[in-house]
Formats: sequence, structure tokens, C-alpha cells
Amino acid sequence: MDPYFSKEHYIFREQIRRFCETELAPLVEEAEEKQLFPKQLFKKMGELGYLCVRYPEEYGGAGVDKISEVILREEMSRICQGFATSWSGHSHLATYPIFRAGTPEQKQKYLIPAIKGDIIGAFALTEPDAGSDTKSIKSSAVRDGDFYVLNGSKTFITNAPIADYFMTASYTDKSKGYHGISLFIVPSNLPGITVRKLHKEGVRSSDTGEISFEDCRLHKSQLVGTEEGNFGLIMEMLSENRIGVAANMVGVAQAAFEAALQYAQERVQFGQPIGKFQAISHKIADMATGIRGARLMVYSAALLIDQGKPCPLEASECKLFASETAVSVAREAIQIFGGYGIMSEYPVSRYLRDALVYTIGEGTSEIQRNIIAKQLGL
Ligand SMILES: Cc1cc2nc3c(=O)[nH]c(=O)nc-3n(C[C@H](O)[C@H](O)[C@H](O)COP(=O)(O)OP(=O)(O)OC[C@H]3O[C@@H](n4cnc5c(N)ncnc54)[C@H](O)[C@@H]3O)c2cc1C
Repeated sequence: MDPYFSKEHYIFREQIRRFCETELAPLVEEAEEKQLFPKQLFKKMGELGYLCVRYPEEYGGAGVDKISEVILREEMSRICQGFATSWSGHSHLATYPIFRAGTPEQKQKYLIPAIKGDIIGAFALTEPDAGSDTKSIKSSAVRDGDFYVLNGSKTFITNAPIADYFMTASYTDKSKGYHGISLFIVPSNLPGITVRKLHKEGVRSSDTGEISFEDCRLHKSQLVGTEEGNFGLIMEMLSENRIGVAANMVGVAQAAFEAALQYAQERVQFGQPIGKFQAISHKIADMATGIRGARLMVYSAALLIDQGKPCPLEASECKLFASETAVSVAREAIQIFGGYGIMSEYPVSRYLRDALVYTIGEGTSEIQRNIIAKQLGL
């Protein structure tokens, strides 16, 4: 029994686990091999109410709590972190600013179709020379009558090759420092936009790309909300998403753990299952303990969000702990599999590649430690 779960949470977990095992699992191998996200998944998940789950029913969302969202994210990642990465780029990062600050027209035109899976969104903040140091982005949107002229380039953008719009951060007023960073909803088919797909070693089934904006003319109605300056909103969104990413990492760790436990029970060497050797059973015990710790941190942070209590410290702590735990669990799973752990027909090496992405993406482990230390007054 989990102290954070109601009866509805258990039912939700059953439903989403069944969906992931029957609908997602058969698509993983091909998507990973071809490095292509199966776009039809957005439509299917939208129809079932599994995209953007927390937004209210008036926009077509499921209106569920944060604990339900982290359950969904954990279950998706247990099957495929690549799919879960694309889900996160769309269901949280590309849509949250519209939900929180968008005009009624923007909600009609972008949020409602995104929740249904009719359109796909990407969130474009990172640039070639601005990763952890987000304030140093160079993209600019210069006002010209009723339009803005957008120039700049973005990289590592999840969903960029398949997106219908990019939620794009750029400076509208450099003189205001980071308060001069604004968000725009940029339709991906506008003249002046070029997208290049990137190939990766982790989360291969999530499409990632670079975007270049060259004198791209955007109507002023594409600015999120009616006023320039959204840096606070971006930080709020990234902080909250760290809890979701931590849930993703619990899912990856769980998958690696389950595979390792089964293998340790089945693989026989020196006349007994390798799980009977203390060197292996202690690894399994440490894996289970780390996962439980990470999971409880995720649920307690999610509960704070459900109680309306902002928790940037807890969000960074659980993102740091869960991603580092996933890396060490996946690393140990490979060790338990021995040579088979290196072979592509077993998924354990994928778990390690996918876990490594999230000691980097959504704020590196070093940046999480900086945030935690700052919150502690250092
Ligand atoms: C698969 C994938 C998907 C992504 N999707 C998106 C997306 O959809 N949208 C988006 O905008 N971005 C996305 N990103 C970008 C991601 O957020 C950045 O990669 C991340 O923020 C780190 O930036 P960087 O890679 O430029 O590394 P850098 O910032 O250059 O860091 C390099 C190293 O220096 C360390 N470092 C930097 N500054 C400090 C410091 N102050 N103190 C201590 N150490 C420091 C870092 O921890 C790291 O170890 C994605 C990245 C990946 C890998």
C-alpha cells in the first residue's frame, strides 16, 4: 500500500499500465530502431484523455491531480522513456504557458487541439550557446508594427521535427535583462523556419531537432498572453516539470530493476541462480531501496503541488535523486546481465542510455545541486 494513494489512484495506475503494456510496448522496438516517434500515438492518447492530463475538463483535459500525472509518467517510462520524453515536451512544456497565461483565443486555437492530440507542440528554449545558462539566449523578437520579427536558433528541441508549433523563448527587450524574455507560439510552417533532425544515443524514439528562425514574421497575437516578459512563468514551469521528470526516471529504474531481478532468478552459473550469490542479491536489494526512496520523494513533491504549495527545493531534490538513481540502477542491471547486458536484443542498455539523458536534460544534476544549495541559503 502506498500512503500517498487513494483508491482512484490505484485504479488509474491499473488502467494506464494496461494501456502502456498493450498499446505502447509493441511500438517501442521499431521506433527506437528508426529513431522516429510514432505520431499516431498523440492522437490515440488524446482520444483516451492521456495527454495533458492535468488541464481542466473545460479545455478537454482529464483534470486529474499531480499524483495521477506522475503515475502516468512513471508507467510510460517503464515501457519507453523516448515516448515519455515526447509526451512531456507536448503535454507540459509546450502547453503549460498557454494554459497559465494564454488568451482565450490562444486556448481555443492551440491548447484545446493539443489536449486532443490534433496538433503537436514543442518547447524551444535551449540554444547552441545557451544551455544551463538560459538567460544567455540570443534569439530576439523585434516589434515591427503588428508583427514581431524573430531571429535565432534553438537546439536539442524535443518534438521539433514533428511539431505543429514551437513554444519559443526569445528576447523582446534586452534592456530589461531576463525579464525581457518572452514566449511566442510559433507555427512550424511559417516562412523563415528551418528544422533539422538530430540523431541521439538516448531516448531514440523521441524526435529531437534544431530550429533556425530567419526573419520569421509573427503576428503580435502569437505572443503568449498580452504582455511581454514570461521568464518567471518559464522557471515556474520547469521547476514543476522536474517532479514529472523524476517520475519518468523512477519508471526507467523500475524497468531495469524488474529485468535484473528476473534475470538473477533465471541465470544459472556454478550450479545455482546468480541471484543466490550475495554480490548479486545485494545489488538487487540496493536497487529496490533506491527506487523506493526516489518514488516516495516524487509522490511527496507531487502531493505538495496538489496542496497548492510551490516546492522548488523538493522538485530539484527529487529530480536529482531519481535521475542519479536510475543511472545507477540501470548500470547495475547491465552488470547483472553480464555480456547479454551489452547485446541490443536486451533492453537494459537502453535503460542506461535513457537514464543518462536525464542527468542532463531539464537541468543537469550540477544545476539541481546549485538550486538546492541556494535554497538552503548557500
Ligand atoms: C534529449 C534531450 C532533449 C531535450 N529537449 C529539450 C527541449 O525540448 N527544449 C529545450 O529547450 N531544451 C531541451 N534540451 C536541452 C537541455 O535542457 C540542455 O541540454 C540542458 O539544460 C543542459 O544544457 P547544455 O546541454 O547546453 O549543457 P551545458 O549548460 O553546456 O553544461 C555542460 C556541463 O557544464 C555543467 N555546468 C554548466 N553550468 C554550470 C554551473 N553553473 N555550475 C556547475 N556546473 C555547470 C553542466 O552541469 C554540464 O555538466 C534537451 C536535451 C536533451 C539531451
